Amino acid sequence: MKREILGVLFDDLTLDEAACRGAALLREGGFHYVVTPNPEFILTAERDSEFRGILNRADLSLPDGIGVVYSARILGVPLKERVPGVEFAQRMLQALNETGGRLFLLGAKPGVAERAGARLAEQYPNITLCGVQDGYYTDEAAVVRRAADARPDLLFVCLGAPRQEKWMARWGGHTGAKLAIGLGGALDVFSGDVERAPERWRAWNLEWAYRLKQEPRRIGRMARLPLVLTRAARERLLGK
Ligand code: UDP
Repeated sequence: MKREILGVLFDDLTLDEAACRGAALLREGGFHYVVTPNPEFILTAERDSEFRGILNRADLSLPDGIGVVYSARILGVPLKERVPGVEFAQRMLQALNETGGRLFLLGAKPGVAERAGARLAEQYPNITLCGVQDGYYTDEAAVVRRAADARPDLLFVCLGAPRQEKWMARWGGHTGAKLAIGLGGALDVFSGDVERAPERWRAWNLEWAYRLKQEPRRIGRMARLPLVLTRAARERLLGK
């Protein structure tokens, strides 16, 4: 069941439930895409109706941000849990490994997707890494052709929001992939360039603070995030 949080629809699923649904999409015919909105997405979607539409038509929309979970609580439509995009992606890699499927990695700075691919190929030996492409290209059509020629089953699109969601909606079906996931900075994590917060920080819902500690230049972006909680509180009070 979908829940609406400040104009954006989310699936109310645990990580296990989301993984089950994702694995089913990977088995089905046709193209599907998954979005992993955080509070920044909600703020962008307020101003960008094309982006909002793409988020709300996704086959799965997973709350990748504790700010989304808190907003849901404030609005009185609680979500079961935060579902980090990176963890969902790992579960899809496990599912792909079981069937020996094909993976294409798109996005991040030159060299990152290669390094991420090499590490993932070690961890998931039955997966065929069928292609990688950095996210700083100029010829969109050539990249789509390259992805289609690689015949992927699973596609990670890591170009940052809203570009990655617009890419999936516009081009995803042309690649022949069964499932595309918009994953932000996940390739930087899979490559080992960026470290995820240790378990204790995650358990305390402080993954965002750890990320800020690692990348202090994100302060400007993060400073806007409490706005989402304020909007949620206002919406609740006004009884919208
Ligand atoms: N990125 C890209 N092309 C661009 C801009 C960004 O491939 O033109 C990549 C960037 O290198 C990073 C990812 O997009 O790997 C998303 O970064 P961000 O930290 O904004 O995403 P978040 O994890 O916060 O969603």
